[in-house]
Amino acid sequence: MSTKTSSTDPKTLDISKSQGIDIVWADGHASKFGLSFLRDHCPCATCSNAHGTSEPQPGTKSANPFVMYKALPKIVDVEMVGRYAIRIVWNDGHNTGLYSFDLLRGLCQCAECTSNSAGQGGVRPQ
Ligand SMILES: [Zn+2]
Ligand SMILES: [Zn+2]
Repeated sequence: MSTKTSSTDPKTLDISKSQGIDIVWADGHASKFGLSFLRDHCPCATCSNAHGTSEPQPGTKSANPFVMYKALPKIVDVEMVGRYAIRIVWNDGHNTGLYSFDLLRGLCQCAECTSNSAGQGGVRPQ
């Protein structure tokens, strides 16, 4: 049995199918992920290809003022994949996204992590 821990091991994993996922990492860091955020960052081949295109997809953002309501993504089911990832089944039937904890840690949106990755938009004077 491996007993090594890293900062990308979740200590607690709190999954709310209607709210999102909260993770406290082994190093004490806490991350919160909303459903839309997770759905947008689905790492599967289909979705990451879609992200990769430079052409904005119609219907994304506020490109279309007639889209008043877009159903919010919801989690139908979450299953653990080994010890390193979770697979999320969405209410639109999408279920091929494997969210590794490594990936989730990298996607952390807390103030600390987002300020660490500043660099797009301006260099902060040190
Ligand atoms: Zn996907
Ligand atoms: Zn963070």
